Amino acid sequence: MRMVLATGNAGKLAELTRMLEGYGVEVVSQAYLGIDPPVETGVTFVENALLKARHCAEHSGLPAAADDSGLVVPALDGEPGVYSARYAGPEGDDAANNRKLLAELAACDGDRRATFHCVMVYLRHGADPAPLIAHGSWHGSIAEAPRGTQGFGYDPLFEDPELGRTGAELDAPEKDARSHRGQALRALIDGLAAELRR
Ligand code: IMP
Repeated sequence: MRMVLATGNAGKLAELTRMLEGYGVEVVSQAYLGIDPPVETGVTFVENALLKARHCAEHSGLPAAADDSGLVVPALDGEPGVYSARYAGPEGDDAANNRKLLAELAACDGDRRATFHCVMVYLRHGADPAPLIAHGSWHGSIAEAPRGTQGFGYDPLFEDPELGRTGAELDAPEKDARSHRGQALRALIDGLAAELRR
């Protein structure tokens, strides 16, 4: 079976391919099939993940998987949320996004809680009425200043309360074991594997 992953990110493709080893699934990216990504018009992670997967399934005629993720800060009424990648502007500059987050939080009352969310979906075809949907969340808080050099996005500011370290101070396996994306991916793979065994 062949499926398409709605991403241009080589790391995500490699991860899904590795986790589906042994199930006879070939995973290809939308970029490989020459499919341009859709405009993400949803106001929730699940809406954006579904629209990305549906776009891929409709354009390829293949089953499709997609993810959407971001950071939710209650003191900022849920911002940056689905706009996490472009919080400080359309260029998607991580350092500028982190600076803006610190500035916005400085004007708040000291509640620095934050949660990363990731939703992953799988559609058997473009009109699939019963998609597989998996959700992962990673609770933490926003540090006063960035720490660490690994990861991407808001990792230097997002502190895991149990470890006392930011996402950027964790190596990839440590982060995968705890992260919103790791949780969602494992849950989606479980659902997919159960379906492929039936
Ligand atoms: P995407 O769903 O991969 O496009 O991610 C959306 C945006 O949310 C990213 O560009 C980051 O700004 C932020 N984000 C999502 N997951 C993470 C993470 O694991 N670490 C840091 N930032 C993240």
